Amino acid sequence: MKKRVRFLLPVLVLLAILAAELPWETKEVPKRTEAAMEVHFIDVGQADCSLILLPNDKTMLIDAGNNDDGETVVDYLKACGVEQIDYLIGTHPHEDHIGGLDDVIESFPIGEIYMPKVQTNTKTFRDVLTAVKKKGLSVHSAKAGVVLSESPELSITMLAPNKDVYVEMNDYSAVVRITYQDTAFLFMGDAEKQSENEIREDVRADVLKIGHHGSSTSTSEKFLRRVNPEYVFIPCGKDNDYGHPHREIRNLLKQYDITTYRADADGTVVFASDGTTVWVVE
Ligand SMILES: [Zn+2]
Repeated sequence: MKKRVRFLLPVLVLLAILAAELPWETKEVPKRTEAAMEVHFIDVGQADCSLILLPNDKTMLIDAGNNDDGETVVDYLKACGVEQIDYLIGTHPHEDHIGGLDDVIESFPIGEIYMPKVQTNTKTFRDVLTAVKKKGLSVHSAKAGVVLSESPELSITMLAPNKDVYVEMNDYSAVVRITYQDTAFLFMGDAEKQSENEIREDVRADVLKIGHHGSSTSTSEKFLRRVNPEYVFIPCGKDNDYGHPHREIRNLLKQYDITTYRADADGTVVFASDGTTVWVVE
């Protein structure tokens, strides 16, 4: 053995040991911040799923993607250290919103579950009701005026649906606004312009989870001006069949200079709030 190799060998072995010990960042594990509140828009393609880690240490999940996304959502929540879900919301009975709810209900202790008072005759919907029943839970009505939390620091309120009957299933969507000190988040489900027009309460938000995957049936210019968001998240799948987000909406967001994130381009996106400012966790 040459002298140089004899010297290099122990160094290489040491480097290999060090490399194995180093906490290499893996993409699968969501990053945690020191911020009091985090909102995770989980990439479930052409579907919807938002995890909210609240400043009072409670957790909220709004929708759970398609049927096939159930496992992805459950794994993501576990990787985030979620042990129970205090508020579970199924915005409306379409598969791309409630599909994975049964898996979530079966996998975690659930505090309160909210869904709008509307039924569909699909297996997906029945699966959710079966999971709810098995767990001994009862579904609370999601509707305007429901207050989930009310304190000077943190308020969680439902702004829609405002009526009992709609033509469009999307308009039954539970719309949720969360304010934490000076910051606010607005989650629209698939609510369309009809529902937007019925909302009388304050809708201002730093972050808007856009309605109906960026379809032009939602997000009127008037409504966007009322929300006046700094950021928008669009839950849309790559090359989806609907052409979401529609050109009108893309142009509108550009016109108002709103920083936009899309599931098809950005994957899962995490926002953090310290009560004063909101930022994207890189
Ligand atoms: Zn949808």
